[in-house]
Amino acid sequence: MGKQRILSGVQPTGNLHLGNYLGAIRNWVDIQREYDNFFCVVDLHAITVPHNPQTLANDTYTIAALYLACGIDLRYSTIFVQSHVTAHSELAWLLNCITPLNWLERMIQFKEKAVKQGENVSVGLLDYPVLMAADILLYDADKVPVGEDQKQHLELTRDIAVRINDQFGTPEKPILKIPDPLIRKEGARVMSLTDGTRKMSKSDPSDLSRINLLDPPELIEKKIKRCKTDPIRGLTFDDPERPECNNLLNLYTILSGKTKEEVAQMCGDMGWGQFKPLLTSAVIESLSQIQTKYQEIMNDKGYLDSVLREGRYKASQVANATLTRVKESFGYLLPF
Ligand code: ATP
Ligand code: MG
Repeated sequence: MGKQRILSGVQPTGNLHLGNYLGAIRNWVDIQREYDNFFCVVDLHAITVPHNPQTLANDTYTIAALYLACGIDLRYSTIFVQSHVTAHSELAWLLNCITPLNWLERMIQFKEKAVKQGENVSVGLLDYPVLMAADILLYDADKVPVGEDQKQHLELTRDIAVRINDQFGTPEKPILKIPDPLIRKEGARVMSLTDGTRKMSKSDPSDLSRINLLDPPELIEKKIKRCKTDPIRGLTFDDPERPECNNLLNLYTILSGKTKEEVAQMCGDMGWGQFKPLLTSAVIESLSQIQTKYQEIMNDKGYLDSVLREGRYKASQVANATLTRVKESFGYLLPF
């Protein structure tokens, strides 16, 4: 039997941050040898909230280069840009027409992001999870490694696939593969530096709320110095009254490679003044190698273009075959 297939992606809505790295990309890197992987830069998703046409193309390059800099290896993985494979938008339309509207109205991310948009909230933001279902289902993905915030969208993807199979397939000949989420416990939900009850996000208007993978050391130091803490001495995990403390200790644990018990022991009597420099060094050290590699890749756009061209070719082969299968099952007159 061949390897199982993985599909995942990140939106070029800004710079990648520690949440994207620890919740998603680091896990892609760790497991890529065991799977056949497709990682896309999901630029069609990036316009579901107001976007800047001046920066979209460059943000797309940045994310693709960061995938490589973080350790995505082209021997095991394909990297491509979502909008380069037109099957994504086309399948999204087909899925739209069989997805009940009320399934989408329940989505937490839509509710949270829609509040910020007021009257201007777009149909695209509501439809985001259907496009995401198309992204995944096109590749017959077995597993989708994501952060905790995407769990609900994965459940929707499964529901859509089951609905298509029920309506247009047979138990012996299903049309679409039902994917499973792959959510690793550590780092699945990295919280904002300015509010420990909200997740770290690219789209948070405050840059102080996140550590970006490309932040220089001085900026990392400044952000950690300014981040929200509490006046209590002695740092502890899992205290619901201290979400910021739990988040910063978790970050330190993952980045330092120590166990939770070791960190609990070490920090049990510490004050913030002692802990923050330790966290700062751990973050700077973890990111420095990624930053150096990123610069090398961005200095060679010809190489990056060739990676994305090859990725587009490989992704299109798989995606177009699935699209044709779905269209056939819907009864379309196929082009001749
Ligand atoms: P946006 O605010 O524009 O939605 P984002 O920071 O949520 O950006 P996405 O591109 O939507 O990033 O998500 C990319 C991947 O990163 C997904 O797998 C998502 O689950 C994961 N992810 C996003 N934020 C976090 C976080 N704070 N902790 C862990 N994983 C996260
Ligand atoms: Mg998001």
